[in-house]
Amino acid sequence: MIKAVTGTKDTLPGEINKWKYLENIVHDVFSHFNYKEIRTPVFEETILFARGIGEETDIVGKEMYSFLDRSETNLTLKPEMTASVVRAYIEHSLGNQQPLNKLFYISPMFRQERPQAGRLRQFHQFGGEALGSTSPYLDAEMIQMSFHILKQLGLNDLTVKINTLGVPASREIYKQKLKSFLQDKKHLLSADSKKRFDTNILRIFDSKVDEDQQLLKEAPTLLEYLDDDSRNDFDLLMKAISSAGIPFEIDPKLVRGLDYYTKTTFEIISGKVGSQSALCGGGRYDLLIEELGGKPTPGVGFAAGIERILLACENEKSFTLPDDSLDLYIVKLDKELSNVIFDSASFFRRVNYTVDYDYLDRSVKAQMREANKMNARFVLFIGGDEFKSGFCNLKNMISGEQYQVPVNQLDQILNYFKNAS
Ligand code: AMP
Repeated sequence: MIKAVTGTKDTLPGEINKWKYLENIVHDVFSHFNYKEIRTPVFEETILFARGIGEETDIVGKEMYSFLDRSETNLTLKPEMTASVVRAYIEHSLGNQQPLNKLFYISPMFRQERPQAGRLRQFHQFGGEALGSTSPYLDAEMIQMSFHILKQLGLNDLTVKINTLGVPASREIYKQKLKSFLQDKKHLLSADSKKRFDTNILRIFDSKVDEDQQLLKEAPTLLEYLDDDSRNDFDLLMKAISSAGIPFEIDPKLVRGLDYYTKTTFEIISGKVGSQSALCGGGRYDLLIEELGGKPTPGVGFAAGIERILLACENEKSFTLPDDSLDLYIVKLDKELSNVIFDSASFFRRVNYTVDYDYLDRSVKAQMREANKMNARFVLFIGGDEFKSGFCNLKNMISGEQYQVPVNQLDQILNYFKNAS
């Protein structure tokens, strides 16, 4: 039997409603903040991600699905969206059309990670990107939108963590301080962290090794070496999210190793999904657009993992799905009336009711079982002696009441639907 590839998942009809429920909330919240949707191709030239995410990150270093196509072009299935959005922004000169572009997306992403609960090889993210302003209120907006979406999904066990990375100049001073602090402890670091000590010292904070984290406890923090502008923006950000009623913690360990990430970083963590606990993450990238060949333009954004969020929702039992029952199930009492049933179903569907009937020539009993399984609000019986005298029977499945309706005046049924809802 051919199976789905490890780390990929089918979304079956039984699960689709919770995806749609989440997607509706995502669309709603972004549109209230006036973000416009953007869609980009599933694959891009590999160089885009190598430059936009950074050669030394895990994503580019070991997780990308890259391949040569038949014309020997090196392509990659997108592992994240920011680089693609920035590419589209530059390619279509979106900055010339308006000074600030507020964009959002919902899209599959691909990373060859070791699959486990909450970690897949094809997963889905929604996220926002705002290109064109250094205002810390946009950083606040990112946190506000992601928090709002998670709250609207009914999630409670959430921790918002924020940090600031400053600008490359202040970060450089800090890196030197961190280097001197770790210099005489270097031999105690894990092999990976030893490497990072030389290549990209900030990334030692990402280490999952306990001993590394113990050593870092006493380390100086970036906040102590922050430039005035970054400190001012960080203060404004904290004030803004406080007044939006969002509780947060400062986490100096929330770093990104690359120079085009500047100032704000944030993450929202769930206490209900095990070790892969980050539901979303984001931050400011004032130097990225220039890095990818555009005019110097500031930007800020976030990405959230849908599968992981839905896992948190399931574990918190955070929402119940709205009712998706049928308005009407039509029971066929005589096989030869298929065309009448077809026309009746078409009539109700045209006026926006959800209707189904039997296509398998099943017994009346089996059809009633099906109507019950689909939670039909009404059942319409077509056929038998009644039909011959020009009528059919309608049953309200909730109250049990039955009505006789003339076959040639099916629109009368619409009143019963309305009165019952
Ligand atoms: P990142 O782009 O790595 O900052 O990730 C943003 C969010 O995407 C994370 O907080 C997760 O919710 C989700 N995510 C990242 N990688 C995976 C993965 N391999 N499987 C499922 N979700 C993921």
